[in-house]
Amino acid sequence: MFSLIPFQAAVPALRPLALAVLVLIAPAQASLAQSAVGVPRSTNGSLPSMGDSSELPAAAERRMGDRIAASIYRDPDYVDDPVLGDYLQSIWQPLMTAARARGELQDELDERFAWEVFLIRDRSINAFALPGGYFGVHLGLIGAVSTSDELAAVLAHELSHVTQRHISRLLTQQSRQAPWMIAAMIVGALAASKSPDAATAAIVGGQAVAAQGQLNFSRDMEREADRVGFGVMQGAGFDSQGVSAMFEKLQQASRLNDSGAFPYLRSHPLNTERIAEVQSRLQLAALSRAAPSPEGQADADKAQLLHAMMAARARVLAIPGVDALRAMVAQAQRRTAAPAAPAAPAAPAARIRDAGALYGGAFASAQLRDFAGARSLWRELQPLTAGVERARQAVDLLGIEIDLLAGVVPPSAATADLAQARSRAEVLTMAQAMTVARRTREVAERLQTWVTAHPGDARAWQMLAVAYGQQNQSVRAIRADAESRVAQRDYPGALDRFKAAQALMRSQPGSADYVEGSIIDARARQVESLVKAQALQDKVDR
Ligand SMILES: [Zn+2]
Repeated sequence: MFSLIPFQAAVPALRPLALAVLVLIAPAQASLAQSAVGVPRSTNGSLPSMGDSSELPAAAERRMGDRIAASIYRDPDYVDDPVLGDYLQSIWQPLMTAARARGELQDELDERFAWEVFLIRDRSINAFALPGGYFGVHLGLIGAVSTSDELAAVLAHELSHVTQRHISRLLTQQSRQAPWMIAAMIVGALAASKSPDAATAAIVGGQAVAAQGQLNFSRDMEREADRVGFGVMQGAGFDSQGVSAMFEKLQQASRLNDSGAFPYLRSHPLNTERIAEVQSRLQLAALSRAAPSPEGQADADKAQLLHAMMAARARVLAIPGVDALRAMVAQAQRRTAAPAAPAAPAAPAARIRDAGALYGGAFASAQLRDFAGARSLWRELQPLTAGVERARQAVDLLGIEIDLLAGVVPPSAATADLAQARSRAEVLTMAQAMTVARRTREVAERLQTWVTAHPGDARAWQMLAVAYGQQNQSVRAIRADAESRVAQRDYPGALDRFKAAQALMRSQPGSADYVEGSIIDARARQVESLVKAQALQDKVDR
């Protein structure tokens, strides 16, 4: 990732543990640098990409990624928050589109890889790419960046590591290890990264797997990810200032020697060459950058308002502890205690700051189970989002969440039309509210339509299983549960449940209709072959 001090200068500043880690991974980096020497360069100085025999085939890399993904889904620190998930997707999807349009994302990879971003409950500032098109983003990163442009800068960089096949090249250089073993090491390192003391245990002599569970890219790869990522980010319409703002943050953190909170600084050693390249790219971008139009500025302010609220949400979901939650509530209350502003509307900057503080305060209050306090801050928040559609929607959903946390039926649950819900956050939050209001038939109908369009949505399948269960539709409930396991890449778990559904159909012939029964039989066969293929692959790999 980004860090702004030269690698050599960084070493003495790091803590002893981190230093030990750097020394341990040094052999891997040295061998990467050596092997890079013999690699032919294309004319623009980039590393050769597709079709290079030193790459792991995409299908093999995807299988490895699936194994890692299955363990992340099981991890208690994996966060499926539909609200933050939608926000992340609103940044991620434009980056993917831009990567395709710019020819950075080859068709084969586009189809074979997962292109899935996991949210991880971790307060440190980090994002990383994994094999097979999987990515991890710490809640700490979302909570710490000031704009969606900064987040886009980080994600575009990580995306580019994958589109440029950097991961597959690193993995091939570990060819003495079977892919399943490398996958296991990455999983082990990811787990170890949560416990600083265990970090060094994950370093197995000379592996390209860092203490943070990430891959150590070469300097050339970092520079390429900077260059390609910058183009992708601009192509997606984000402000290139996000890159400089992110670099400034990391530079400051490195001066403060804050590598604990910034795993980036450990995992992505930088050099003066890379910094110079980034700066000249920014200068060039500044030359062609027109002064924002009034409409452009208004759009930027709206994006900022939403970001301030989402950053506050990420900070609360990172479970910062009771004191930190109380501090967020106090900050929001100080704002509401301030003398009422004159009739003139608040300046954009003040409005954005207040919206972030009130959203965070209301959500933190609800986590602390002070629901009256949460509602009062939430009411203060509402007028600030007038005219900003996505922010208003986020505030509406927060109101429902506060009610659900308080154990009361949200008023809108009685009247809402779930068919009108469009975004994932709306569908899933409203479905939850309507389940509490015992409108399970409508919930099941809407979720059934949703999973037909989004078969990989494990959470939606789980909620559908509950809705069917409440209507005593046991076969459908078990099938939905099985599908949620498939979505989480847990094929053996899914097969168990499909078999249970089949057994139930046999013992209670009236429990499912013919169509339902044939679907379950077909899915059971498909998943069984996935389980067998995985077992076979294990033998080949070993
Ligand atoms: Zn990087």
